[in-house]
Amino acid sequence: DGKILQINNLTKHFKMGKGQLLQAVNDVTFHINKGETFGLVGESGCGKTTVGRTIMGLYDKTAGDVFYDGQNVHELDDKETFQFYRHMQMIFQDPYASLNPRSTVKEVIAEPMEVHDLYPNKNEQLDRVIELLEEVGLNRDHANRYPHEFSGGQRQRIGIARALALDPDFIIADEPISALDVSVQAQVVNLLKNLQEEKGLTFLFIAHDLSMVKQISDRIGVMYLGNLVELTSSGSLYDNPLHPYTQALLSAIPIPDPDIEDTRERIILEGELPSPINPPSGCVFRTRCPFAMDVCARVAPKWREVEKDHYVACHLYEDTLNETDRPDVHIK
Ligand code: SF4
Repeated sequence: DGKILQINNLTKHFKMGKGQLLQAVNDVTFHINKGETFGLVGESGCGKTTVGRTIMGLYDKTAGDVFYDGQNVHELDDKETFQFYRHMQMIFQDPYASLNPRSTVKEVIAEPMEVHDLYPNKNEQLDRVIELLEEVGLNRDHANRYPHEFSGGQRQRIGIARALALDPDFIIADEPISALDVSVQAQVVNLLKNLQEEKGLTFLFIAHDLSMVKQISDRIGVMYLGNLVELTSSGSLYDNPLHPYTQALLSAIPIPDPDIEDTRERIILEGELPSPINPPSGCVFRTRCPFAMDVCARVAPKWREVEKDHYVACHLYEDTLNETDRPDVHIK
């Protein structure tokens, strides 16, 4: 099949002081198809970055499995891991923090090639570095300069060139445009889109901004407090959001055309985001959910496919729920 990544029941808990457990990711299951962009969205602290880092092997998992091209990534030995992660690269939110300020751009981009000893001939290596610079819209004149000499958008381009240095198939982009000026964001998104087409890349695009994710993702997963709460195609998430949290996120996005009157019903989330150290019983969203019912405090909702390729974890969509108990949750 066309799957490149399959994540089954991934759980990641961090041990804190005093025997406390930070439940960063709970029982998350999804897959990513070859060549698609999968968007993972949610507020900061929802676990989306931890999912990305656990896939990358930067964190050990607590439970569950990650299969990449059929290979269980947590069963590789050190040597296999080293080779394996050539296929998977990461782009970070703050390009400056992820680039060594004392290295020239040329050195920054060549470093992964050096680590993997790809080019014994240094002239060939430099040619490749310049080729990569050109692929991201920079050029040979930038090679000997230092990261601090560049704007945020250019630094992100350098970060992208570095991520491409090993010719990966899969890129995890963790909030790659959140730190950039709005005017620059679209340029970087277009660059990523073009590179994806040229190279057949697959993206996991992690972001808190649903409007940006919508533009570039084929499918989207929404996370809340360590849990995946909804997953479907980009179009169906926007036309037919089922989970009250997704509905709230969407209702907060302004309609882009100022001439269209915004008649949508707003869902305002009340209360604070609970702590992942002490999450609510039952449904994790219940303390802020306008539709919470008694059952929501007692039982965690199951992850179910309620329409074709549309998954949601919410009691409102359980078959066993009485029709009379079911509030009208659809916003237009
Ligand atoms: Fe709201 Fe209950 Fe659905 Fe949770 S399970 S989102 S509390 S209605």
